[in-house]
Amino acid sequence: MQNAGIDALGLDWKYLAFDMPPAQLRKALEGAAAMRFIGINLTVPHKLLAVEMMDVLDESARAWGAVNTVRFEMQNENGWLPLAGSEPEANQPIRTHGFNTDADAIVRAIEEDLKMKLAGAKVLLLGAGGAGRTAALRLASEKVECLWLINRTESKARELQTEIVRRFPGVETRLGFPKTNVDLMVNATSLGLQTTDALPLNTGSYALAKCARVYDMIYRPSETALLRQARLEGCETANGLGMLLYQGAKALEIWSGKPAPVGVMRRALEQNIYG
Ligand code: NAP
Repeated sequence: MQNAGIDALGLDWKYLAFDMPPAQLRKALEGAAAMRFIGINLTVPHKLLAVEMMDVLDESARAWGAVNTVRFEMQNENGWLPLAGSEPEANQPIRTHGFNTDADAIVRAIEEDLKMKLAGAKVLLLGAGGAGRTAALRLASEKVECLWLINRTESKARELQTEIVRRFPGVETRLGFPKTNVDLMVNATSLGLQTTDALPLNTGSYALAKCARVYDMIYRPSETALLRQARLEGCETANGLGMLLYQGAKALEIWSGKPAPVGVMRRALEQNIYG
């Protein structure tokens, strides 16, 4: 996805993947800066660790407490500039600027793929791990009307509820299943990654037909058992590919300062994941 986007923008860059033990993250960031990397994406568990390591945090990283995109910047007489298109001297100071592109990607993917507005919506969210927490807070910031939280480990859902009540007091947040129909259900659990997994929702407790739309953050398989059953019961459905796409597209924009070629990136992603 990134290399297709980079090529389409005519940039002389390459996007590479590295395995990095968390204990080496600080050294890796220093090494990347020394080698004049343009930027980096980080994934679990580095997203949380990196927050403390950045020289500057963008508002997005501060708001959601995680960094998934780093931009290296150099200092000159006009201030700090992205390294893209710059020619730093050997001893010019380089700093790390941390962003979060995951949270906005969740909203964009749901609104575009399911053709809905989140503001004022009733939402049931399954899962309170890393992705579930970010989704819950971002959905609350979007002013959903009511958010129902379900998680296997209930204490995590309760902690998340407390955080939402503190940060977004206008949003009604409840634990457990709704008594009403919902506009949207989101699966942010890892149930569905394996074809042998149980459904993330106990349909005896809450029928899928009560959900107008179902969004599954999982994108491989392209249709989880949850999405298949939801489709058969008449719900609008979408998988998590858009979420992956939009966090990457935004990262490329942050590094390059140019609009991302989203169509090209989507095709590359689909080709890579689904063949
Ligand atoms: P995580 O932090 O490990 O959280 C996993 C979540 O799944 C927790 O809520 C966990 O509940 C729940 N869970 C795991 N096994 C379960 C089981 N057997 N029964 C019930 N609940 C179970 O992982 P994450 O990073 O949040 O990722 C969650 C999902 O989102 C994964 O499927 C991942 O692939 C997907 N994701 C997609 C994107 C994208 O770009 N589309 C991005 C990030 C994540 P407990 O709290 O009780 O353990």
